[in-house]
Amino acid sequence: MTSPFLNEAESMYDELVAIRRDLHMHPELGFQEVRTAKIVAEKLGGLGYEVQTGVGKTGVVGLLQGGQPGDKVVLLRFDMDALPIEEANDVPYRSQTPGVMHACGHDAHVAVGIGVATVLAKHRDQIPGTIKLMFQPAEEGLGGAMAMINDGLLNGPDVDYALGLHVSSWHPLGTAVVRSGALLAASDKLEITVHGHGGHGAQPQQTVDAVLVAAQIIVALQTVVSRNINPDEPAVVTIGAIHAGQAGNVIAETAELKGTIRCFSQEVRQVLHRRIREVAEGVAAGLGAKVDVTIIIGVDPTISAPAPTAVVYKAALEVFSEEKINTTFRTTGGEDFSAVLERVPGNFFMLGARNEERGLTYPHHNPRFDIDESCLPKGVAILCDAAVRCLAGETDSA
Ligand SMILES: [Zn+2]
Ligand SMILES: [Zn+2]
Repeated sequence: MTSPFLNEAESMYDELVAIRRDLHMHPELGFQEVRTAKIVAEKLGGLGYEVQTGVGKTGVVGLLQGGQPGDKVVLLRFDMDALPIEEANDVPYRSQTPGVMHACGHDAHVAVGIGVATVLAKHRDQIPGTIKLMFQPAEEGLGGAMAMINDGLLNGPDVDYALGLHVSSWHPLGTAVVRSGALLAASDKLEITVHGHGGHGAQPQQTVDAVLVAAQIIVALQTVVSRNINPDEPAVVTIGAIHAGQAGNVIAETAELKGTIRCFSQEVRQVLHRRIREVAEGVAAGLGAKVDVTIIIGVDPTISAPAPTAVVYKAALEVFSEEKINTTFRTTGGEDFSAVLERVPGNFFMLGARNEERGLTYPHHNPRFDIDESCLPKGVAILCDAAVRCLAGETDSA
């Protein structure tokens, strides 16, 4: 455990906590991160970064040209948005904005980002290439990563590797999850409208019962994962909402189903989408009904490439011992940094922030979510180390 950056990061602990708590008290929803972005931009400017604001509406990009020769560019990503949740924690740094809360830990990510910016700026002379910091708006379902990509994030200078992290209330303080492949799932929305023919509940022979058709479709859809997908590949098709009918003696004309589709690869995703349409349309046709199947594409699976992941693993090993680094965990949650990792090889890792003794165990997006802030310097050290290793060409030998 000899991370070249850990001591420096740890010496910033009070500052990192202060930044995180200030942001926690003043959370901002997606694409409204005006105060947060201003704090970030001022900090980066003061550290000597070339700063670009308004990238993807409220996003901020910081560029630092290292002092050593090197033509690689590594991007480090930190998301900034909060959630529409009323905080239930009774802490001195409780959210001051009614109905808005940093319940996913993005306040911690911004604090880590400012820590990384500070440490790397101090080591500018030793950096063989370019650091590009991505402070991203609107991760929580609003497409902030894509908005920044559409505004040219990945070009001028072109990004070679992309790294990011998420604090995790599932994993104890002093641990990390660093894995190659998919860490988080693709997440798409499903909407099915069944068009039948309504009528009297006592004369079914004159109708096409949309409720019955919907019920058959729901059951049949569960065969898609169990019969069409390789059992080695996790996948989920959930119908979470059904709306149809008004009265017990009336056969409903239409039924609406809403659901979510999760999986870890684009190949499985394509099979799921195709089979969901075929099954819904086929069942409906067999029962004399029509269906409209709409799949609303959400985030891609968050897939880390082997070489940058090996580099992050090495950097994590300088901070945590081997048995504290989980290399197999994955979750069917979604993350929009996947949009960057679809275009540039990189790694997204999780940093344990759970503390049972202190009761810091609530899941992300819970009104009682909180983290153990001792994780912050560890995140700073791992990202600084991994970034410099990527620029130094360690990904070529990994
Ligand atoms: Zn979240
Ligand atoms: Zn999050």
